[in-house]
This record gives sequence, C-alpha cells and structure tokens, in this order.
Amino acid sequence: MSKKVIKITMIVTIILTIFILGVFALLHYSIKLNGQKVVHLALNAEYHESGAEMNFFKPSSAIKVIGEVNSSKVGTYKIKYETKILGNIKVSRTRIVEVVDEISPTITLVGSETVNVCDDGEYQEEGYEATDNYDGDLTDKVVVEREDDIIFYTVKDTSNNSVTIRRFLKRQDVEKPKLTLKGSTNMVVLVGSTYNEPGYEVSDNCTEKVEVKVDGKVDNKKVGTYTLTYTATDESGNSTSLKRTVRVASNTSSKGVIYLTFDDGPSATSTPKILEILKKKKVKATFFVINHDASLDYLIKQEYDEGHTVALHSYTHKYDKVYASVDAYFKDLTKIQDKVEKITGVKSYISRFPGGSSNTISRRYKKGIMTTLVKEVRDRGFHYFDWNVSSGDAGDVKTSDKVYKNVINGLSKSRSNVVLMHDFANNKKTVDALERIIDYGLENGYVFDKIDMTTPMVTHGVNN
Ligand code: ZN
Repeated sequence: MSKKVIKITMIVTIILTIFILGVFALLHYSIKLNGQKVVHLALNAEYHESGAEMNFFKPSSAIKVIGEVNSSKVGTYKIKYETKILGNIKVSRTRIVEVVDEISPTITLVGSETVNVCDDGEYQEEGYEATDNYDGDLTDKVVVEREDDIIFYTVKDTSNNSVTIRRFLKRQDVEKPKLTLKGSTNMVVLVGSTYNEPGYEVSDNCTEKVEVKVDGKVDNKKVGTYTLTYTATDESGNSTSLKRTVRVASNTSSKGVIYLTFDDGPSATSTPKILEILKKKKVKATFFVINHDASLDYLIKQEYDEGHTVALHSYTHKYDKVYASVDAYFKDLTKIQDKVEKITGVKSYISRFPGGSSNTISRRYKKGIMTTLVKEVRDRGFHYFDWNVSSGDAGDVKTSDKVYKNVINGLSKSRSNVVLMHDFANNKKTVDALERIIDYGLENGYVFDKIDMTTPMVTHGVNN
C-alpha cells in the first residue's frame, strides 16, 4: 500500500471517530440536568428532585426519572433521566446523590470529668458510653489513651466523623479512711470483769499508713457508761470517727436465778407450745436458734416480741462444717447473727457453741479449735453461754418425768442456773415438763430471767 493510501485511511478514521463521538455527545447532552450532577445530601434531609430538560432536541416521549433516594441510609444513589428523541433513539443521563452522615458521635463519661486520684496517679476507669445518630452504640469502639493526667476518649463513626473528649485526673486524696468497729458498738461488761477491746478494721484508698486514735477509757471497776471514740486519719488528713459505748453494769448477784434456755429451734411443733407456757407463767427465757425454713421465721419474731432473748446457736449446726476452721465457725455464726437481726432488728452478741464449749467432737475436724474460739468470740464482743443444768432432753431421756427430775435436781440457790433444753421438733417430753419445772422454781424461791449482756457467763472447761 502506498503512503498516500495510508494517509487517507488515517484521516478518514479520525474524521469518522470525531463524527461518532460527536453523535454520542449530542445524544448524551441532549438531556440537561437541572441542579448539580453530583448532589451531597445530609442524612435524613429531604431530597428535592430538580428534574431535567432537553437541550436541543424535542423529546418524543416525556423524560422518565428512574431511581430513588433513601435519605435515611448513607450511600450513593443514581437517578437516571431517560427519554427518546428523533423518533426512537433512547437517550439518558445520570445524577449521583450521595447521602452522607455529617454528625459526630457523642461520648458521655460515667463519673466526673475531674477525678481525684492518689499520689501514684493510679486510675480505675469509671466507664463511658458512646452513641452515634447513625451507627447507634459505639461504646466498644472508643479508644482510650492517657497522656500524663489527662485521659482522652476518641471514637469515629462509619462516616469517619470523630469526637474526642477528656477526663482530668487530679492527684489529691479527699477520701476518708474506711473504719469499722469489730464487735458490738454497744457493749456491756460486768463490773470487775475485764473489758476485752474487740478492735477495729481500717483501710484507705491511698495509703497503708492510717493512724487510729482511741479516745476514752473504760473503768471496769466503776459502774457507768463509757464512750470510746475511734478516729482514723490518713496521710492527707482525711479522717473518720466512730463511737462505741461500753456499759459497766453492776454485778447484782444472780444467785438463785434460773435461765431457761432452748436450743436448736424454732420448730412448728414445740416452740409455739413453749411460748404459750412461758406467757402463761409470765416467765422470760432464752432461745439459741439455728437456721430453719423461712416459714418458721415468725416464731423467732414471736420469741423476740414476747420479750424473750433470741440468741445465736449456729446457722447449720453441722459439726463438720462449723468446726472445720476458725473462719468457718465465724462465717456460720455471722450468718445466723444476720438472720436474727433481719427478723428482730437487733444484732445479738449472745452465743452458744454447737455441742457447748466443752465438746470433744470438734477434735475430729480441727484440733485445738475450741481453745482458739472461746477467746476469739470474746475478742469479737460475744458472750457465750454453756449450761450448768442439763435436762438431758437431747440425749437418752425419754419421758417428761425424767426431764423434770434432771432439771430440778440440778438447780442450786447458791449460783445462777443455766438450764439446757431444746425446742426442736416434736420434743413433747420437754414441753410437758416445762410447766412443772417453772412451778417448782417459783414455789422454791427461784427467780426466772432471760440472758442478756449483763448476765454472768456460765462456761465449761475446754476439751479441744
Ligand atoms: Zn444444739
């Protein structure tokens, strides 16, 4: 092929190409969009269709608008404008609508914007919440960074809108030490007997160095009410104060007094009958209770309401559990103490060991535990009571006659008498003997009383 032919072919090709492109452009631009070709629409804003018109051809049909914009959903939408020209040539143009979220998420702090921390600057995050108008909960997307004593919380939504807020740490200890008094805050000791200080527990958010000062003194030789004030002060000078009153009570002789005590109750069969007899005889007694079904709680309440002493025996009364360790013992005791307090509103500090303090069964579970416990219960402010008259009703005694005899034979005018009986279920022999026992006591010049914190303790020797 000659050069000339090649040249002509090229020129023809170029002209043809320009012509074709021209035709396409002419067709394409025959539709004119009103408004912008690319529209940015804020989330949830209303989309106004601004339409399209013809540039230079007359349309053979109306301009159809195809496509929809969902402005509540972020995304890119296409709106197509379509018509026919010059008889039957289809032409169209497209508008792009971008629905965008421009609102940043928000972060809210749990706790204050300024937080006091200890000198070491240690800060335990108090929490935060992040929400976004579009993405919803973004809490787990929050990035937490600390710079010196400022904490920055940053979060971004899916449209890349971001927010940062700050929390300021202030190295300043303004928290008071925590002080709790062990034992009762209302103690009673008998004149002449030793006052065992039950002690206290103290802790502070910032320091181990907390000074505790105890103001006041108990004169155990002089009847009266004494106030002890415990003041705990931390290194920053924050302080907490608590008071304990100690009543030194006169040791009026309880010679010839009978303290009837009932263990292991309440029970639906024995306790109501015992309460009825006590009421009839106008005699007060002491119930060392254990945990039973909550349906029997009303009997504990009734014991208390009728003026008797509700004292603590054990929650479970299971030797293997109670005497497994010193800790286990006090857990059990505290549980029954809490239960009684919940029912009566009074925290009792009068207790009786399961099996008595002289029991040997505890040896099986923990050697020497009773030696520790008898001291520890006193240190914690409890008065524990054994007995010096036993009815034998939890042993091999089978008849009410024998219960009666055991009790009256054990009584003595020259001391206080703590009588051990039981109000466990179906203890008919004791229920039947009770009225006769009371009658015997009253006829023979005894006085009946309930145990309280001024009652001299009657205790056994320890065997473990
Ligand atoms: Zn018992």
